[in-house]
Amino acid sequence: MVTNQDGLGTSSFPRPTFEAPQEFILQAFRSQGIEFDAVFVCPHFQTDGCECRKPELRSRAMARRLADARRQLDALDDQIKAVALRRVNALQDQAGAASNRSADLNNQLSSSLSASNCRMM
Ligand SMILES: [Zn+2]
Repeated sequence: MVTNQDGLGTSSFPRPTFEAPQEFILQAFRSQGIEFDAVFVCPHFQTDGCECRKPELRSRAMARRLADARRQLDALDDQIKAVALRRVNALQDQAGAASNRSADLNNQLSSSLSASNCRMM
């Protein structure tokens, strides 16, 4: 969301006058499942010549760059999850193999003990 709020924070336009309706609007969107990636507010006057005033390209470019960064972060998150999943699966396989070896050793030990008991009788 990119919005111009001329003179926001001045005595003629105190922040609470903006923040309450802004939060109401964001909540209304949120209730419909719509979340903004970012909210850019230009508090300047048109005569200030700032770069964050709509429709200056800079504010749109900032919003686009932020959205791109979020997409990259999501992709990275998926890659990290895939690596973690492979590690968990590998550990699970190793644990299964160790358990099988342990069972084999127990069986061999039981067999040899039975055999030696038979000889002693
Ligand atoms: Zn501005």
